[in-house]
Amino acid sequence: MSYEIVIGFEVHTELKTRSKVWCGCATTFGAPPNTQVCPVCLGMPGSLPVLNEDAFQLSLKTALALNCEVPEISTFDRKNYYYPDLPKNYQISQNDKFLGQKGWIDVDLGEAGIKRIRINNIHLEEDAGKNIHPEGKGHDYSLVDLNRAGTPLLEIVTEPDLRTKEEAQAFMLAMRSLLQYLDVSDCKMQEGSLRFELNMSLRPKGSDKFGTKVEVKNLNSMSVVLKCIDAEFERQSELLDDGGKVAAETRLWDEVAMVTRSMRSKETANDYRYFPDPDLVDVEITADMIAAAKGSLPELPLARRQRFIDSLGLSPYDAGVLTASKTTADYFEAAVARHNNPKTLANWVMTGIQSWLNEQPEDTTVESCPIKAESLAEMVALIDSNTINSNIAKKVFPLMLETGKRPSVIVEEQGLKPMDDTALDPLIDEAIAANPKIAEDIRGGKLKAIGALMGSVMKKSGGRANPDALTARIKQKLGVEG
Ligand code: ADP
Ligand code: MG
Ligand code: ZN
Repeated sequence: MSYEIVIGFEVHTELKTRSKVWCGCATTFGAPPNTQVCPVCLGMPGSLPVLNEDAFQLSLKTALALNCEVPEISTFDRKNYYYPDLPKNYQISQNDKFLGQKGWIDVDLGEAGIKRIRINNIHLEEDAGKNIHPEGKGHDYSLVDLNRAGTPLLEIVTEPDLRTKEEAQAFMLAMRSLLQYLDVSDCKMQEGSLRFELNMSLRPKGSDKFGTKVEVKNLNSMSVVLKCIDAEFERQSELLDDGGKVAAETRLWDEVAMVTRSMRSKETANDYRYFPDPDLVDVEITADMIAAAKGSLPELPLARRQRFIDSLGLSPYDAGVLTASKTTADYFEAAVARHNNPKTLANWVMTGIQSWLNEQPEDTTVESCPIKAESLAEMVALIDSNTINSNIAKKVFPLMLETGKRPSVIVEEQGLKPMDDTALDPLIDEAIAANPKIAEDIRGGKLKAIGALMGSVMKKSGGRANPDALTARIKQKLGVEG
């Protein structure tokens, strides 16, 4: 049987606020355990939460950027469950008057065009703390760190609109890109500030009914989500082929075995017994607040892509690649501001800079690249002014990466300036003497043969000849015209 994949995501993103969502504690990542806590986020009786306005504004901005309908009144609910890293025994979340509903995000699928993925709802809640399970002999206990408890967490729930692994990947990239452009989260998957929970089911190709889904949690990078989709496809299709049923459950990814493992069944899952949190007031969202939040929206990825096509003359593909990451697009624009040659700069960013990025850990951005935008612009300017040719540039670039030095400095230090005629002449003479037959052909009008002599001179000069000047000089020496 052949199956179609059906995927919906629950996206959790920690908002970039200085303090937590219901108290004034700091949200800094990596502080010593339990140093960023107070009675409110420790869940002490009698303490009262107060909504962090900044967290609310960032959420509203995101809801609007995701084209959501925003209610006039948004409220908070208690989601009751017991877990050691949740000291109140409930999570404050939203279950009814969500901050946003019925939105969408447009996802660029390359050749296949743009696909609109519907957003079911977006809501503001709080993150839990972290349980730490020390490993090794004598470590038969667990520890709790509540620094993260109460960190503002925005949850974005999509409709099950994704149909392939490629669409899932494009969606994750588009969502991360949007959140980065909005500057609402630092989106570091390794640190957990952006998490994609995968909901996936299969159905026979051509069927219009959904199958039973599983939910997979704790996926800390996009590549893990993609591996997980492959593993689940295999597991679920084998089950269905054997006439079995997929159990509705929550599963975890096992990175070593490259499979998912059951964590808990959804069939017997708790009823969370949601009810309105009596400690928090309703939030009235006025037309003025919406207008102000709309006014604060920056240029978003697809709009920037269109601008790169329209005003910088880039191809849709190049513009898509460059604008996918805000930092890369910023870098590229900073370089173009220094040296106005968008096409060549786009090529260098998409090849040289991108291959450097590909070798770095997943959350690395171009901001930590040793080659700054000004340096890259300077390098292309050196090429455009014929100070160096593109062969030399290919030698200079890795040295720029290695040393962080400016290209002009490297060209000077390494003696990579192009040779002038006086330096080239002896090399040309040598090449002619060593290849009498070729020289004769050229004299006889076979101009194509010049390539062979050029190759030889280029090699001897270490690539330091300007191709146009060299061609002209060889012709001159052999007495051929044009
Ligand atoms: P639950 O009640 O189990 O949390 P929801 O209806 O709230 O389920 O949906 C949670 C997520 O699962 C959403 O992102 C949704 O798009 C996705 N989803 C729902 N049904 C399916 C399905 N049959 N296959 C894949 N994903 C699904
Ligand atoms: Mg749900
Ligand atoms: Zn606190």
